[in-house]
Amino acid sequence: MISYDVAVIGLGTMGSFTCCELAQRGVRVVGLDRFSPPHDRGSHSGGTRVFRIAYAEHPSYVPLALDAGTLWDQYALAAGVRLLHRCGMLSIGDPASALIQGIRKSAEQYGLSTTAYAEAEIRKFFPAIHPPAGHIGIFESAAGWIDVNAAIQAAQRMSSLAGATLLDNCPVLNIVNRISHFEIVTPSQTIAAQRVVVTAGAWCGQLLSQLGLPLRVVRKVLLWARPLDPEQFSPRLLPIFAFAERFFYGFPTVSGPDVKMAIHWEAGQAVADPTLPIDPPTMDEATPVLEMAAKYLPALCGPLPSAFTRVTQLKTCLYTMSSDEHFIIDRHPEWENLVFAAGFSGHGFKFAPLVGKALADLITLGETSAPIGFLRVGARFTTPVGPG
Ligand SMILES: Cc1cc2nc3c(=O)[nH]c(=O)nc-3n(C[C@H](O)[C@H](O)[C@H](O)COP(=O)(O)OP(=O)(O)OC[C@H]3O[C@@H](n4cnc5c(N)ncnc54)[C@H](O)[C@@H]3O)c2cc1C
Repeated sequence: MISYDVAVIGLGTMGSFTCCELAQRGVRVVGLDRFSPPHDRGSHSGGTRVFRIAYAEHPSYVPLALDAGTLWDQYALAAGVRLLHRCGMLSIGDPASALIQGIRKSAEQYGLSTTAYAEAEIRKFFPAIHPPAGHIGIFESAAGWIDVNAAIQAAQRMSSLAGATLLDNCPVLNIVNRISHFEIVTPSQTIAAQRVVVTAGAWCGQLLSQLGLPLRVVRKVLLWARPLDPEQFSPRLLPIFAFAERFFYGFPTVSGPDVKMAIHWEAGQAVADPTLPIDPPTMDEATPVLEMAAKYLPALCGPLPSAFTRVTQLKTCLYTMSSDEHFIIDRHPEWENLVFAAGFSGHGFKFAPLVGKALADLITLGETSAPIGFLRVGARFTTPVGPG
């Protein structure tokens, strides 16, 4: 049986950066994935991701985002490819909304540089955006977007260069604890590893079923539309945008002629088993997004129903929601040589290099200086997490 120091299960967003970090530290690491990342079957489909620091969800993410920003730049330099594009982000809403208040709280607590715009200023400087009366905008210049495929490919390339073994199309069926080591069971072979990192995204609940992690997989729909007025949606006149209402957000025409958008704060369709084929997106599912666009970005698609003719592409992607919508990064309560990162709840991508570094620390050193203590299981969940 081939034997490694560490096996990383899942080579998507978090796993590819974990593998890279471990291999660069001289660890004998094998990474396994059920598909061939980047792919459209998990949580990293859609090409682009928002990077933001003034974090509306909780100020504790700010130090992580600051460190992640530095790491994105270091990875880009080492890989010779641009990964994080800091084009800025404008968040628009009622001053009393959760989004605006959350951003302000994080910005104040950490002295982050942001600029506030009144309604009339938003219309003047960002002509695509039509805010309702009384809404304000908060611009964060250090925010931007990440090139998903370039990021995962760069991490995988650098992993291989540093000596990692990467096995695509190799689903892990079981992790067996043999006390002295783990056996990683796949359809074609069983691999031995002293330690294991589980970064299986939407499949973490299945792979770690004995822990009863409070995870729920939901299917989300992404939409691309060809703007009626392309100039207004060029990155020259429009940054990344987000509206407080249901966190409707999108990208200017950064990767082609179309605007990509979605609604972050909405339920999504429950997925009982991510291993089964995911329902393809339907035009009906475009309706809520197009209604938001018609309300806030009238020159994008115009009113419904003609707005449907502007839609060029729909895609699905999976969120793995934890019950409190914060990530879960911890050690197995009984198997000290297994760590996992799960429940990224639709906002994890921007932290990938930082999570990779923290997981590499945890599995090799037993601790990390990354301030991720608030993401451990601890006493967060009412139902106890652990073998049951
Ligand atoms: C529509 C959408 C928009 C988003 N927008 C943003 C955003 O703007 N900003 C942001 O920061 N985040 C965003 N996110 C969230 C972010 O993309 C995810 O948090 C992140 O990709 C999760 O990474 P992961 O490694 O957990 O999952 P994945 O990237 O899906 O990786 C998990 C990998 O594990 C593999 N795997 C699973 N089971 C097994 C097994 N048994 N054996 C081997 N391999 C296995 C899978 O094939 C997969 O490649 C968004 C997510 C979605 C769906």
